[in-house]
Amino acid sequence: MADFGRDHLEAFRLEAREWLEANYPASLRADPAPLNAWLGGGQKATGDVDLWRQRMGEKGWGVPTWPKQYGGGGLTPAEARVLWEEMGRIGAINPIGGMGVIMFGPTLLEYGTEAQIMEHIPRIARAEVRWCQGYSEPNAGSDLASLQTKAEDKGDHWLINGQKIWTSGAQYADMCFCLVRTDPRAKKHEGISFIMIPMHQPGVDPRPIRLINDSSPFCETFFTDAKAPKENLVGPLNGGWTVGKRLLQHERQGISGAGGGANRPMMAGGPLNEMAVRYVGVEDDGRLADADLRARLTDHLMEAKAFALTGRRAALEDRNNRGPSASSSILKNVGSKVRCDSAELALEIMGHQGVGWGGEDFNADEVAIVRTWLGGKAGTIAGGSYEVQNNIISKRILNLPDQPHANAHTPGGKQHA
Ligand SMILES: Cc1cc2nc3c(=O)[nH]c(=O)nc-3n(C[C@H](O)[C@H](O)[C@H](O)COP(=O)(O)OP(=O)(O)OC[C@H]3O[C@@H](n4cnc5c(N)ncnc54)[C@H](O)[C@@H]3O)c2cc1C
Repeated sequence: MADFGRDHLEAFRLEAREWLEANYPASLRADPAPLNAWLGGGQKATGDVDLWRQRMGEKGWGVPTWPKQYGGGGLTPAEARVLWEEMGRIGAINPIGGMGVIMFGPTLLEYGTEAQIMEHIPRIARAEVRWCQGYSEPNAGSDLASLQTKAEDKGDHWLINGQKIWTSGAQYADMCFCLVRTDPRAKKHEGISFIMIPMHQPGVDPRPIRLINDSSPFCETFFTDAKAPKENLVGPLNGGWTVGKRLLQHERQGISGAGGGANRPMMAGGPLNEMAVRYVGVEDDGRLADADLRARLTDHLMEAKAFALTGRRAALEDRNNRGPSASSSILKNVGSKVRCDSAELALEIMGHQGVGWGGEDFNADEVAIVRTWLGGKAGTIAGGSYEVQNNIISKRILNLPDQPHANAHTPGGKQHA
């Protein structure tokens, strides 16, 4: 294919390099903190952060492989890879992200009507609208199909009542893609629909859940006579399970970090191997001064590299942009394990300096590592737990039979991709 030819990609590399040099604001190059803070949620983009958001939005390169007619970049996966490399070269961070890009957009492109796509996708491509995910409920996590939040057909709108939980970023979101029960009499998987709910209305109440570190990355979200226009149903009525499962594959692929991942595990303190040299020291021959750590670090670096290359291969093989499959569960589990192992090794390398939480005695890198270590554990649960991904792998990929005494809810849940 011409698009994958070396000459073509090298020409594209020069084009991308030139554009990025001209358009990535110098202030963000010097200090990306305001951009990272904006991506973390909460505030409106201002100044150079907003300028960069607008430029990338107009170019479509924040969502490089989405179709051009919907505001994407229209690039092939190979071109997108070159773009990420060129952005990495100058430390440019993509300002277009979040659940709209990783999960909802690709799902809507597949299941939405032309009118829904035209309304929502360009605004996601320009990061004008923030989305959150209304899946989990207090009694429906792994067993997601037990969800009870209901939507009633009121002629010109849906009336929604119920409670979601762990809704990441709901307090900042403009829209929620939500799984709701539309037929309480049907079998549990067959009475669910996928609906887009506007967040800014009196019937929606996102209550931030305060964590031990005082941050609130997610909410309990209460719907009390909330409304959504009838045209906000995505896919068939009572056919939301299929749409919802597809979205989970995108979520898992996104969480895994496959495709955009670095080749070397990078912590706040820099690449792991460089941190090890700094904290542990070297022998006369230049080798790391701790033989056992050296061996485990080498194993880990090889595993991380193999994972990065596998993710890259998966992206390149997907030339028709079909998107992730059940194998996203493998990538999610391996990716979250690699991240947990990186953080674990970083803590070990730093010794007692790796237990900082705040205050003057610790520098920002040390504090960030503890948070990365804790956050890595959350990554093994979000998007469907480690065990549930293993269930999907055994059933959908290895074709193994169900366990005889499996959880009574086994046919449901985030486990089914
Ligand atoms: C950081 C983070 C962000 C999140 N963001 C969102 C969000 O934005 N929107 C949203 O809807 N949800 C979100 N979630 C919720 C997430 O999807 C659920 O936590 C997850 O699906 C697990 O459900 P649960 O917490 O109810 O645990 P449970 O389902 O109660 O599971 C408890 C334990 O039992 C195990 N288990 C359950 N069933 C089986 C089985 N059949 N076989 C083997 N083991 C099993 C699980 O692996 C787990 O260890 C988020 C979670 C985290 C951690």
